[in-house]
Amino acid sequence: MKYKRSLLKLSGEALMGDNEFGLHSAKLKQYAVEVKNVIKMGGQVAIVIGGGNIFRGFSRIKEKIINRIEGDYMGMLATVINGIAFQSYLENVGVCAYIQTAIRMDQIAEPFGKNSAIRHLEKGRVVIFVAGIGNPYFTTDTAAVLRAIEIKADVLLKGTRVDGIYTTDPEKDKYAKKFKNISFEMAYQMRIKVMDQTAFILGNENNLPIIIFDINRKGNFQKVISGEKIGTLVSKTR
Ligand code: UDP
Repeated sequence: MKYKRSLLKLSGEALMGDNEFGLHSAKLKQYAVEVKNVIKMGGQVAIVIGGGNIFRGFSRIKEKIINRIEGDYMGMLATVINGIAFQSYLENVGVCAYIQTAIRMDQIAEPFGKNSAIRHLEKGRVVIFVAGIGNPYFTTDTAAVLRAIEIKADVLLKGTRVDGIYTTDPEKDKYAKKFKNISFEMAYQMRIKVMDQTAFILGNENNLPIIIFDINRKGNFQKVISGEKIGTLVSKTR
């Protein structure tokens, strides 16, 4: 196994499948099985879960009724809903999962703590980090990089619908070419939308490899952590 301890970023988009909103049960089941298979291989899996399938802070700003900060808190709470849901799907396939939150809510989840998170992982339990980093003006992509660094993950895996980073949008341009590797500097300069720029900067500063891959293809999670070259690797050196 190439990456023993991984942090998987599951975005709201991945959780809603082809629905326009909310959760897609078949997708959650599928991702839970993917995680289970990695645990069975002896991998350690932490997850940062997004919330865009329920609420995205900035999308309400134009209406000027819900302000940015309040909207962002709503977005963070949306990630809690997703985290509770995914915990249930994991438990349903026999994977023990704990939720850790960046905003205290003791009845629902443990407060985030890197030491307790690492202990869970070492015992073969999944840890789901919710509420982003607990501050408005951030995203769960940045939270994913931060948590990955804090728990000393070997890699951050961002599961998306597209199987990596392309020269142009592959859903619009049939001549778009996929990068197998790309440096953080290049990802930053190209203003690649797949992750936000703060996340790339933090990843670069802390030398955290990030792999963008297609989470919807069965078996891909196992393949990535085994070191198979699928998706696009964003790293310090090209
Ligand atoms: N959010 C925030 N701080 C954080 C993480 C998230 O304010 O540390 C809010 C922000 O409004 C964001 C929403 O929560 O739009 C949902 O997170 P995100 O957009 O990252 O979810 P995803 O795109 O992964 O579904």
